[in-house]
Amino acid sequence: MGAALAAREVSKRYGAIVALDRVSLEVRQGECVALIGESGSGKTTLLRCFNRLTDPDAGVVVVQGDDVSASDPVDLRRRVGYVPQDGGLLPHWPIGRNVALVPWLRGMNDPPALADQALRLVGLDPAAMANRWPRELSGGQRQRAAVARALAARPDIVLLDEPFGALDAITRADLQSTFLELRRELALTALLVTHDLAEACLLADRIAVMHQGRLEQVAPPGELREAPATAYVRTLLARARVVG
Ligand code: ADP
Ligand code: MG
Repeated sequence: MGAALAAREVSKRYGAIVALDRVSLEVRQGECVALIGESGSGKTTLLRCFNRLTDPDAGVVVVQGDDVSASDPVDLRRRVGYVPQDGGLLPHWPIGRNVALVPWLRGMNDPPALADQALRLVGLDPAAMANRWPRELSGGQRQRAAVARALAARPDIVLLDEPFGALDAITRADLQSTFLELRRELALTALLVTHDLAEACLLADRIAVMHQGRLEQVAPPGELREAPATAYVRTLLARARVVG
């Protein structure tokens, strides 16, 4: 055993579109896997299968040994933190309340204190941030708050959907360092979506390359570079080199 997350032959279609085509992937306890691939390749769909925001048409999804189709979705969301692609902060709620949401839904003890702890973990001062509206934060602060929200209920596992996507290079580098520290400190298991190969190499133990709903290769960064398994992976590597 030992896998924190496992997808086995998971498929999902939307009408004629095959979003996931028999995808099998395991993320070990404490491991960070980066899902990389172009827009529309199925990254978000796969991520959402792990917290039951999407139910696959076929295949099995397992979280910490439990088949998610038989798990309570609310309990699952306590165990598995989620940073959606847009950050997911509710615009009409102050940051503190946003971050306290999952602990509150779960009936945990003292959600505001858990929210303060989570804000500190991501480098935000609760005294300065808790009463502000999401729109009053910078892009980087908002992404930090979104990560805090995913961590507030102290999950073992986090799913992050392009968490550092729309940020300038310096802010992005800061957040990447924070993420590396958090993973060390909390021994988090993470599945992280990115379209940036350099980010995947920096943050992940293994990289999973998706293309048209299929998983093309899953390998540590060095192995991916040295032994690309398919023509698509070679193209991806070549393109990343051109861009820098
Ligand atoms: P990615 O995150 O890699 O950009 P997605 O998983 O969001 O890709 O989407 C994979 C494919 O499935 C795309 O063609 C997308 O348009 C389609 N898709 C995703 N979600 C839905 C949905 N709720 N309804 C219809 N089509 C969807
Ligand atoms: Mg996506």
